[in-house]
Amino acid sequence: MMQKQRTIKNPVTVSGVGLHTGVKVNLTFKPAPENHWYKFKRIDLEGAPEIEVDADNVSDTSRGTTLQQHGAKISTTEHALAALVGLEIDNAIIEVDGPEVPILDGSSAPFIDALLQAGIVEQNADREVYVLDEVLSYEEPARNVEMLAVPSPDYRITVMVDYNSPVLGTQHAQLHKINEFQKDFSTCRTFCFLHELEALVKHDLIKGGDLNNAIVVVDKEISQDKLDDLARLFNKPSVQVKEKGILNNVQLHFQNEPARHKLLDIVGDFALVGMPIQCHILAARPGHAANVEFARKIKEVINVTG
Ligand SMILES: [Zn+2]
Repeated sequence: MMQKQRTIKNPVTVSGVGLHTGVKVNLTFKPAPENHWYKFKRIDLEGAPEIEVDADNVSDTSRGTTLQQHGAKISTTEHALAALVGLEIDNAIIEVDGPEVPILDGSSAPFIDALLQAGIVEQNADREVYVLDEVLSYEEPARNVEMLAVPSPDYRITVMVDYNSPVLGTQHAQLHKINEFQKDFSTCRTFCFLHELEALVKHDLIKGGDLNNAIVVVDKEISQDKLDDLARLFNKPSVQVKEKGILNNVQLHFQNEPARHKLLDIVGDFALVGMPIQCHILAARPGHAANVEFARKIKEVINVTG
């Protein structure tokens, strides 16, 4: 049986700072009509330009997925989009009054909570799902990235990560049906390596991050002085490295939380296809650049085959 499209019942607002800009942003999910899909709207800019969630509007993937259209930009779109896809909401307007989606706890959970609070309603139109009937692939040999989409009775995602890090090791995560997203994936937080964090701080590229919104993987020896610096930076009395090489700012929700977060990012980035898809995505060492390129490829196939 065809499922009906869904939107939210009431507007709902989430507020917080952007990870990279440190700017406070209010994000309001609003109901949208049938066949609308997702659009961001920069209400702080003149004319409140809309930015369609479409792979062709991606302008940057270096530290999250940035969309740009009509001269307006919105950064770090993926965790909010993952929440919409994960709850099988087809149509929403996402109003923002700043340049970056708030990072909150680094997961999709706060967006999920807000959307559930808003309420989800069925619309009259049937949901159109693109059912993949061929095998598609994407590769970035230089970075050992490989992605495959194969026909499947459900939207499934399998992720493998291997960062040559003794701490993370090789991890994998699997979503068998999108209704597993909320419980098993939405709370999984973003992660970074200590050496990346130091570089970001040094270049002033990370501002909104306090030590509660990222899992920090300590992949090299660190002195007490450095730890004290980090504690100061993040307004904590002290931080330590736990035996498994994870900074003790957070408790892991799952042993493979980093792999699960990579899967969450795929759910969010594949919203850029522009409609729900049914296929099994297998991804080795995925990242935003690969996700976006592969989403664009799927979108092209849809445009050709209808
Ligand atoms: Zn992410």
